[in-house]
Parts: sequence; C-alpha cells; structure tokens
Amino acid sequence: MRLKSIELSGFKSFAKKTPLEFASAITAVVGPNGSGKSNIAESFRFVLGEQSMKSMRGRRGEDLIWNGSASMPRGSRAGVKLVFDNHDRVLNLDFDDVAIERVVHRDGLNDYLLNGSQVRLRDVAELLAGANIGASGHHIISQGEADRILSASSRERREMVEDALGLTAYLYKREEAEKKLEKTAENMREVAALRRELSPHLKFLASQVKKIEESEILRSELAEKYLEYLKRESVYIHIAEATLKEERSEPLDERTRIDSKINNLRSEVSKKKNDGEARELIELESQGRIAVTKRGEAERELGRIEGELTARERLAKVAGATVPASEAKYFAEGLLKELENLDTASFKERLHTLISNVKDFIGRLTRGENESGISSEDLDHKKADLEKELKELAAEEVRITKAVEHLRKKIESEKDLSRESERELFAAMARRGELDAALVGFKAREESLARDKEQFRSELAEAGALIGRAAAEYEEHRVRLVSGEAVLNADMADEPRKMQEDRRRKLERMKIKLEETGLIGGSEILREHKETSERDAFLARELEDLETSARKLHELIDELTDTLEVRFGKGIERINKEFDNFFKLMFGGGTAALQIVKEKKLRRGAGVQTENDTESENEGDEDLEEIEEGIDINVSLPHKRVKGLHMLSGGERALTSIALIFAMSQVNPPPFLILDETDAALDEANSRRYGDMIENLAKKSQLILITHNRETMSRASVLYGITMGSDGVSKLLSVNFEEATAVAK
Ligand code: ATP
Repeated sequence: MRLKSIELSGFKSFAKKTPLEFASAITAVVGPNGSGKSNIAESFRFVLGEQSMKSMRGRRGEDLIWNGSASMPRGSRAGVKLVFDNHDRVLNLDFDDVAIERVVHRDGLNDYLLNGSQVRLRDVAELLAGANIGASGHHIISQGEADRILSASSRERREMVEDALGLTAYLYKREEAEKKLEKTAENMREVAALRRELSPHLKFLASQVKKIEESEILRSELAEKYLEYLKRESVYIHIAEATLKEERSEPLDERTRIDSKINNLRSEVSKKKNDGEARELIELESQGRIAVTKRGEAERELGRIEGELTARERLAKVAGATVPASEAKYFAEGLLKELENLDTASFKERLHTLISNVKDFIGRLTRGENESGISSEDLDHKKADLEKELKELAAEEVRITKAVEHLRKKIESEKDLSRESERELFAAMARRGELDAALVGFKAREESLARDKEQFRSELAEAGALIGRAAAEYEEHRVRLVSGEAVLNADMADEPRKMQEDRRRKLERMKIKLEETGLIGGSEILREHKETSERDAFLARELEDLETSARKLHELIDELTDTLEVRFGKGIERINKEFDNFFKLMFGGGTAALQIVKEKKLRRGAGVQTENDTESENEGDEDLEEIEEGIDINVSLPHKRVKGLHMLSGGERALTSIALIFAMSQVNPPPFLILDETDAALDEANSRRYGDMIENLAKKSQLILITHNRETMSRASVLYGITMGSDGVSKLLSVNFEEATAVAK
C-alpha cells in the first residue's frame, strides 16, 4: 500500500482544489510561516477520521472550512480526499485504488466516503486500523507535538505504542467483543428478568393445569362410573319392565277373564231371578184353586141336587116330614157368616152366589113350598152334567196339580242352579278382588319403575352435561368386575337396588368434588399455560444462547488479551532495542528504554454502606483495585547524571521523542509518517543525524516532512512549496531544492 495523493478543497486556507502527489518516499513541504503547511498535516488527520477539533486547531467543524477573504467568498464545505495505491490489498478492499474522503459541512455534519460511497466513520477507522494507520495519530506528528509522547500520561503512551505496534485492530476487536459482551449481559439480565416476571404466572398456570388434569382424571373416573351406573340402571329398568310385564300378564289376563266370567254369571243370576216361571206357578196355583172351588161348587150343587132328589124321594115316601124353618134358616145364616169370613174376593163371590141359592132354597122350604119349578128329570140331567163337570174338574185339578208340581220342581232345581252361579259369582268377585289387590301392587311397581325411568332420563341428561357425548354410549359400555370379567345383564338386574343407590350417592359425591375444583375456561388456561411455558422455554433457550455467546466472547476477549499482551510485550522489547539505538545515535551514548508499569488505581466500590452495616465496614466500602498498565520512559544521558524526562532540556526532549518515534516506526513501520517541523529544535549535527535516520526510515514508510530545515529538505526527492498571497489562499507549487530553501525562508 502506498500513499498516492491527497486533495484538499475548501479545507482551511486551501480554498481551491489542491492536489498533492506523493510519488516518492520522502516528500518535503516547505514555505514561509503561516502559508498553510500545517493545514496539510491537519488535512491528513481530518481525512483519517480525527474527531478532536483541538488537534486540528479548531473549535468546531466550521472552522475547518475556507472562511473567505476579500477576494474569495467563504466555502460551504471542506473536503479532503486521500488516495492509496492498494495493489497489495493491505487495505481490506478489493480495489487497486482506495479513495478515502471526508467532507464537513457548515452545520457541522460530516460525510465519509470510500471510493465515492458513503460509509460510517467506523468503517473508515476499521479499514485503516487493518493497515496499521491507527486513530491515535502516532504517524502524524504535529508542529510542537514532537514530545507529545513524552508529555503524555503512561496510559496515553501505552495507547500510542499499541497503535504504533499495530495492535489497534486487536483492540478494536476486543472493544467490540467487550461491547458485545456488555450488550449480551444486558440481554441476559433482560431475559432473566422476563423469566422472573413470567415465573409466578407460570407457576400459577402450572398449578391450575395440575388442577385441570386432576379434574380431568376425576371427570374420566366420573365418566367411567357414570357409564357403569347408566348401563346398570338401563339394564335394571329394561329387565324390571319386562319382568313386570310378564308377571302382570297372568293376573291381568285372569282379571280380564274373570271380568267376563263375572259378567256372564251376573247375567245368568239375574236372568234366573227375572224368569216367568214363578208367575206361571202362581197362575197355575190360582187356576188350581179355581178348579178346587169350581169342584167344590159342583160337588155342593151335586150334593144339593142329590139332596133334592133324595128329599123328593123322601117326600114321596114320607109326606109331611119337614125341618123347622127356623132351623134351616139358622143353618143357612151360619153358613153365610162363615163364608163371609173367607177373604179371597172371587172365592167369596162364588161362595156368596152359592149360599144365596142355598138361602133361596131354604126360603122356599120354610114357605112349605117344594115347587122349585125344576123337574126331577132336569135335576137328573143337571146331576149327570155336574157329575161330568166334576170328573172334568177333578181331571183339571190333577193336571194343574201335576203342572204345579212339575213347575215347582223345575223352579226348585233352577233355584239350586242359580245358587251355584251366585256362589261362583262371589268366588269370581273375591278372586277379582284378590287380583285387583295384586294388580295394585303391580301398579305401585309400575309407578316406581316410571319414576326410575324419569330419574334415569334426567340423570342421562346430567351425565351428558358433565361427561359429554360419551354419556350417550352407555349402552355399549361393558361393566366389568375388578377381575376384568364382564358382568351379565341378568346379574346386574338381580343385585339389590341398594348397591345402585350407593353408586348414585358416590356419583353425587364425585360431582360435588368436581364442582369444587371450580375451573372455568379450562381450555383457555391450558392454552395460556402452553403459550407461557413455550415462551419461558424460548427465553430459557435464549438465555442459554446468550450464555454461550457470552462464554465465547469471554474466550475471544481472553484470547485477544493474551495476543495483545504477547505482542505488546514483544513489541516493547523490539522498540526498546531501536529506541536505545536511536537514542545512542542522537546523544552519542546513554540509554533509553520503555518500561511497562502497572498502576494500581482505586475505583469506588459498588457496595453501599448503610448506617447499621458496621460489620462489613471494610468490605462494604471496599474500593475496587484496578490495575492499569502504562508505559514509562527511562532515559539516561551520557556523561550526565540526569535521569527522568522532566530533567531534560527542550532539545533533549525533542531528540528523545524523535528517537522514540523513529524506533516505533522502525519496529512496525506505518505506511506513511508526517513530521511537522519535528526537526525545528535540532542543531546542525543533530539535523544531520536526523536526516540519516529519515532516510533509513523512508525505506519502510513514506515520509511527508514539513520543514524549514535545509538538511531535511536535502533528503527529500519531491519538494512542495506553499505560498499564501494577499487573498489568504494557500497555493501549491512544485519546487527544486534551491527554490525550496528560498521559499522556506
Ligand atoms: P508556520 O510555518 O508558521 O508553522 P504554516 O505554514 O504551518 O506556518 P498554517 O498554520 O498551516 O501555516 O496556516 C495557518 C494559516 O491558515 C493562517 O494564515 C490562517 O489564517 C489560515 N487559516 C486557518 N484556518 C482557515 C480558514 N478556515 N479559512 C481561511 N484561512 C484559514
């Protein structure tokens, strides 16, 4: 890598675009005081990313922009472009030429460009660090700053040395790793905090999930028990119904049969009672009595006729024989009285007629008349008629008597029959009573079964609500014994009802227990628990990843620290060798060396002491001891007993710092080195030695020397003269040595 050119436009006094080519190893910039030479050195700092305005002699970005003069208006921007030949790819960019450009605007904003593309300052810094062009600017020694390395603190000095040794890239890496580590630690804290935050909720959810799982177990137990219960109940109802039906069918049939039997018997019994036979008997008996009466009448008529005939015969034989009329009358009246006492009307009537006839006869008798108007021959006829009538009446009587007898017998036998039917009727009714009683029993059983069925229906509905669709499959459920053997339906129906009731009570208890778990929105909780534990697991994984990357970063940091330490140590050794050489060269003897020092630094501890915290008085208020590595410079001048930098003269300081700068450059040569009047304080002899050293140095680094020193100028192969006219604009001109010595004055 080689410095090709730098181009200033609007930067400080370089109002116009001013390019400087660096074709050779040593370029000298010469010119009168205030012409703008140092501005060139600062333009290098600027373009390389310097952030300290002070080191560019400004207070703010605007101070770097051409500020205008009477003849030329001020600029709006200051730009510097540095071009490197990158054929060797020392700069980590795949370009032969790499142009680094920085522009500052009046508003203080900066643009950084790499080959025309806008980049970040950090990109520029990293690119340069990779090519040993560090930010500490050890390769740009500003005017009057030659002994900066001497006046710096040991810590700052260390930084310069590290930079010079090309350790900046490692430092960058370490810094980056440390930042990453810090960020990682912060992330770890955040993630851990998130997990902590999540933890109680997760615990709560886990306990809820446990409850849900328990209640699920309970629910499945309940489902199992429910199915068994429902199955048993349905089997019981089914079989009980069938049994009831079967048991009831016999008495029910009998009841039906007996009902019709009773109806038959009833009608039979009532039919017997309403029969006309009795009436017929009464009629017959009445006919009998009439026949008897008629016969009586006929007999008496016959008797009378026979009497009359006998009397007529006796009269004919015994004339005048008679019965006193009073006697006959008395007889007749007595007879009448008797007859009147008879109560049957028709009988009485007939008898009355008869008796009045008797009375008439007697009347005639009493009047002594035997004239009846009827001849004996008529009486004979009458008698024969009567005798015939009597015969007929007797036959009629016999017939009637027989008929009555027959009827009576018939009635009698029928009465027996009717009595049998009644008895049967009563027996049937009694049986019906029994059956009804039995059927009432069945009815009670039926009602109880209906209640069981009703209860079963509501239990089924409840089971559906509690265990879901499984409840509907109770029919398919196989009830098993503990042994696994399936229970037969008949056995289920046979067991005592109490067992089923016990089961129901147990179900009730389980239901209550399930209700007590009281978990609403179970699926919601499960989902939330799943999400939360997934999130927790994710965080745990993230924490693990972070721990891994933290560990790796630690390892990297340790590795880098080791590398830095080794390289630093070796670097110091090599610098010391050169430093001592250069020092001896400059001072004609003496010794010089860098020394690594470890400074103990106290940093206020994190522990905060409280008033009561007497015990930990020492620990609590402990300051953390930090060891800071720095670099001290030990010199001893020849022939002098002077030791320590503060004892050196200005010239001696300049020589020492030059010796050190050159030594550092020798060990790890920077691509270029800008020395702004570093040689100002040198006497002639030292100027020569300086010139020799420069030539030596130029073998490894490009040198840009801003100088008024003839000796130095003489060593340069290219000389630029800077002039400034009345317009305040710095101008560049290539000059030869003679011109240069002239311009430099
Ligand atoms: P010496 O030899 O005395 O060290 P020099 O050649 O190094 O001098 P510089 O210090 O580089 O001179 O130049 C300073 C000049 O630059 C001054 O004249 C100053 O006015 C001018 N200058 C600085 N900043 C600006 C600016 N922003 N605009 C215009 N001119 C500026």
